[in-house]
Amino acid sequence: MKIEIGRLKQEPGAVEAFDFLLSPAGGEEDYVLLTPIHVKGTLTNGGNDFRLAGRLEAKVRLACSRCLSPVEQELAVDVEEDYGYEEFAEVDPFIDLGDIAAQIWLTSIPMQVLCRENCKGLCLQCGKDLNEGDCSCPKEEIDPRLAALKDLFHK
Ligand SMILES: [Zn+2]
Ligand SMILES: [Zn+2]
Repeated sequence: MKIEIGRLKQEPGAVEAFDFLLSPAGGEEDYVLLTPIHVKGTLTNGGNDFRLAGRLEAKVRLACSRCLSPVEQELAVDVEEDYGYEEFAEVDPFIDLGDIAAQIWLTSIPMQVLCRENCKGLCLQCGKDLNEGDCSCPKEEIDPRLAALKDLFHK
């Protein structure tokens, strides 16, 4: 989405509204976009800088950080940010808000999601999903003090 910046730059208080869909290219590994990113808001000439205010929304699929099962989530990111006049890569007289929105999006993806609040995760030894039931791996939860005693008796 290109916004003409020439007029906006010359007129303090001028507002330019935008509303577009963004489908960033590229192989993201940590998540899958299930919908394009809906970007909506305004760019205002604040007198000394630009004020970007708006919202980014999309549905994504991420992996649960404990059991790795897929989690679908609606993500919404509110943006309110000031940019110096010189901060936009300007190709006179336009700037590409798509690039800026894509960057904001990338830094907003949550790194940690859980499929459920009490997800039990995977067994560290056999890899079984413990939400589906216990595995038969030995549970090594011996109190270190007891372990020391046990050693003593075996000597
Ligand atoms: Zn999980
Ligand atoms: Zn196991």
